Amino acid sequence: MASLEKYVFLGAVTVAIILMARTPDTQPPARPGDLADTGLASDSPAANPSRHDVLPAVLTLTPAPRGHLDTLLACKGMAPSLGNNVDGDLRVTDYKPLVVAQGSVTLATAPVGGGCLSSIFGQRNGRLHKGVDFYHDAPVPIYAAAAGKIRRRLYREDYGNMVVIDHGAGVYTRYAHLEDFSDIRQGDQVVAGQMIGTMGNTAGYRLPRHLHYEVLTGQWGARSGSFALEPVDVLALPAAGDPAP
Ligand SMILES: [Zn+2]
Repeated sequence: MASLEKYVFLGAVTVAIILMARTPDTQPPARPGDLADTGLASDSPAANPSRHDVLPAVLTLTPAPRGHLDTLLACKGMAPSLGNNVDGDLRVTDYKPLVVAQGSVTLATAPVGGGCLSSIFGQRNGRLHKGVDFYHDAPVPIYAAAAGKIRRRLYREDYGNMVVIDHGAGVYTRYAHLEDFSDIRQGDQVVAGQMIGTMGNTAGYRLPRHLHYEVLTGQWGARSGSFALEPVDVLALPAAGDPAP
């Protein structure tokens, strides 16, 4: 009987090994946008394409937050409005990839997979531009600037396909004019750097493809929702890691 138990045990181990080996095949293939963000897309040998399938799981172990630009370029024509903070290569010299809002929430300043800075926060044509714009001619990925809860995921005539994320501590981010949404719903929890959609030009009027990105602080209004919040200039927030002022 002892040898029969041994065979049963070995059989169970074999089944377990087969199941473990099959797990990567059951995961959905990574989207091109996800791969672009890993920095590994171009150096991976085509001979082993299955390697890509397990990359998202590996990424969760990466300590540094992902899903934002490492360097920020001003779009052509934007440089004059940025004054001395742009060098000859259109690089925004005072760009801080990660900033802190309300002293506690670390946010990505440019939560996009590509693009250039096409508009800054402030007065524009007599109205307050309540965010910053990033332009690209392709539907690059848009990422959650920090972990949080999806408070809004809807279409509006003014903001087009729009997402608002609640990061806690009275900090919210808004992403407007998305071409489409990723697999997210109102009430979902997202992690920092999670793809929430792609850059688009949706609205009730014609506009170029870009992300309109707002950082908002304050109390969520019972009736007016995100429109009870105070917009802040993300480019002016302190860099993450700097000592508190
Ligand atoms: Zn805008």
